[in-house]
This record gives sequence, structure tokens and C-alpha cells, in this order.
Amino acid sequence: MVLTDLHGTTLSRIEVPRLADPEECVTLLVKTVKTLRASLGKERAKLSGIGLALPGFVARDRQTCLACTALGWRNINIGATLAERTGLPVWVENDAKALILGEQLFGPLRGSPDFSMIFVSHGIGCAHIVNGRLLWGNTGGAGEISHAPVTLDPQQALPCRCGNRGCLETVASLLAIGNAARQAGLSTSTRDLARLAAEGHADAVRILHRAGSAMGIATAQLIQMLDPSHVVVMLDPALKESVYGHALQYEAESHILHRTNACTMINFRDFEPESFARGAASLAARYFIFGHGGV
Ligand SMILES: [Zn+2]
Repeated sequence: MVLTDLHGTTLSRIEVPRLADPEECVTLLVKTVKTLRASLGKERAKLSGIGLALPGFVARDRQTCLACTALGWRNINIGATLAERTGLPVWVENDAKALILGEQLFGPLRGSPDFSMIFVSHGIGCAHIVNGRLLWGNTGGAGEISHAPVTLDPQQALPCRCGNRGCLETVASLLAIGNAARQAGLSTSTRDLARLAAEGHADAVRILHRAGSAMGIATAQLIQMLDPSHVVVMLDPALKESVYGHALQYEAESHILHRTNACTMINFRDFEPESFARGAASLAARYFIFGHGGV
């Protein structure tokens, strides 16, 4: 959890565990908000609101978590509960969407009307700004590339957490890389695997190349569909410099139709643990500044 100012600068941060029980989770959040608020000293009354990012579907009211597989939540009105317990306005958003809204408000791409962001973590998240607005989709699922199918071959399509088979997440995520490394008898640490690949270890190269290539093909599909000016790919720094990053870039660029004017820029950025929290904090800033949030 982070406390930021209205420019998105982090003023203080506290690491908290992920608690799946909604009641325990709210209790922890309330306690931590109190601690963060106290760090403001005399300025504590200026705390304008709370943003919350979570890996799942959020209702258009930006209060209710409709479904979150990672936490096992269904229809949890976490926003209302947190607002009631803290006395502060609360806005809830999907993690990837919070990330891109933070970028739109505070990041280097602020002002860009069309760009996309992808993050590669345990799962894979993605969100788009189109014509200056967050692309929501019919049910808020726009950008869920983690569960886009990348292989239809039943021999190769591994089962996914979502219940389907052959999703991008089963090939290109940190979860998939870790599983493949374990099966090959290698360390599941991304850093170790990247180091082994750099030393020419065949299995490490194969695992990272396959994962990065799949991510690159998914990125090319995204670019063909939306034609963004930029795609920001947030990666573990070790992956960024590894064969994963190179394969991603190569496959994405190989599968994009080259246009007559400028092409989509693919930018890598380090994925930091507090990226989501900063994105979430930008929601509170956005609503404070614009009133309606502009989303
Ligand atoms: Zn899936």
C-alpha cells in the first residue's frame, strides 16, 4: 500500500500480505490506511480518497468486485465496506486498468490518446487507452489477454487456472515459466533462469524463448487490433534483458504489418511490486482532480 501526493509521487509505503477473507482483508486495509494517514501528521485531513486495484473483474460502479479468481471473491462490495470503515471515498479497479489509468495521469505517456500496457507477473494483465479513454468492453473484460488461447493443439495446450486450456498464461507468465523450469529440474527463480539462459543452458533458453515468443505473438495481435502508438510491457528486469525480452520483441515486430507512417513503439519497463498500488492511488487522485474520474 502506498500513500502518494496528487502528482503520483510515493510519500510512504507499507507492505501487507494478501488476505483472501474479505473481512480480514478490509480490517487490514483499514488499519494500514490509518497508519499511512498518521504519517501525514498535521496534513492528515488532506487525504482525499482511496484507490484499490485487484486482479479480477470490477463492476462499472468501481465499488464491487464481481469476480476475482486469485482471492476467490464473487460479488464483494469491497468499496462500500472500506468507505464506511475509513470515512473516505473509495474507488476499486482491475489491476491492469489501474496501472494504465495511473500512466495516463502521471506517466511518461500521459496525453497519448492510444496506448496499451501489458504486465507479466504470475498472470498476465493488459489494458488499453483508446481515443483518450479506458477501453472497458461489454463486461469490463477488455484486455484480458492472459486467457486468450495461444495454442489449439491438444498435445500442447496445458490446463489453465481459469478452467480452459492453452491460454497465454500457461505459456508466457511467470507461473508458466516456473512450472516449465521445475519440470526441467531447474531453479524456478526468474533471475536464475535468465542467468542460465545467458550462459547458454539449452533448457533455460528453450523455456524463456518459448514464453517470450508467445508473448510477442500476443503483442502483435494486440497491435493489429488496436493500432496503439505505444505498447508498454512491464517485466521483471531479469526477463527484460533475457532471451524472453528479445524473443518478445522479435516476434511482435515480425508479425506487425508495417504501416506507411510511424509504427507502434514497444517499450519495456521494469515491473515493480508497488506499480499496482501507485496505479490504484492515481484513481483517488483522478476522482479528486476531475470529480467524475474521466473514465
Ligand atoms: Zn486461462
